[in-house]
Amino acid sequence: ANDYVTKPFLKDEFTSRIKVHVRLKKLTEALFIANKRLRRKIIETQKAVKREETLNEKILERTVELKDANDRIADLNKALEYSATHDALTCILNRGAILSFLENDIKRSKRMKSSLSLLMFDIDFFKRINDTYGHLVGDAVLKQLSSITRETIREIDLFGRYGGEEFIIILPDTNIEQALILGERLIKKVRNHNFLTNKTTLKVTISIGLAEYIHDESVDQLIERADVALYEAKASGRDNVKVSKNSVIK
Ligand code: GH3
Ligand code: MG
Ligand code: MG
Repeated sequence: ANDYVTKPFLKDEFTSRIKVHVRLKKLTEALFIANKRLRRKIIETQKAVKREETLNEKILERTVELKDANDRIADLNKALEYSATHDALTCILNRGAILSFLENDIKRSKRMKSSLSLLMFDIDFFKRINDTYGHLVGDAVLKQLSSITRETIREIDLFGRYGGEEFIIILPDTNIEQALILGERLIKKVRNHNFLTNKTTLKVTISIGLAEYIHDESVDQLIERADVALYEAKASGRDNVKVSKNSVIK
């Protein structure tokens, strides 16, 4: 029961009350339907939000995976570039890399009109070490020699393995007098070093050839002059430094 009438019974009041209740009933029904529709909409929206959240999570996962893959590729590229430019035994620059640096540094020296010297060295009687103690001992000597050389030169000097037991150091902004000081220091350092190997402790000496870049000579001419100086160092008893005459070899 929603309502009641009291006596005396008035027809107009009765009909108007009935009309009110009928309108109320219709409104309640309409509200009920609207409410139902709204609830359905809310559920649909919640589902859509959930779908979007799942999608976002997947996108995030995929982004992380992609970043990891990119990092791995970058690491691989770095490793690849390292092994393409470095010598596997001594970990210094390999022949290709040191020669390409030399070409660049010569261009720079020409442009800036700065000095540049090239130091080439070769181990004395290295064959004897291999023949007496075996190749592994020879390899250990090459590694230690590379380390002590690296410690002796400047950070900006470029050090590479030119051949089996021949090495090159590019000395930017260095004239021949300064290069000679370094050469003497390196010779001494190697001479005084005790090369520790698993078989024995060895004494090793090196011979050095030096050349300062002459304007307009080619890379090959500079290398050739250092090589001739190195040959002279060998010929004059080894364990010493020789400087190339300052004239281009034709
Ligand atoms: P010299 O004083 O005239 O330079 O005499 P040498 O015996 O050092 O010169 P030679 O050129 O006759 O010998 C170089 C030796 O270096 C020969 C080769 O077997 C050795 N060699 C080259 N590369 C390597 C290497 O990676 N490891 C080892 N263990 N030996 C090497
Ligand atoms: Mg040698
Ligand atoms: Mg040699």
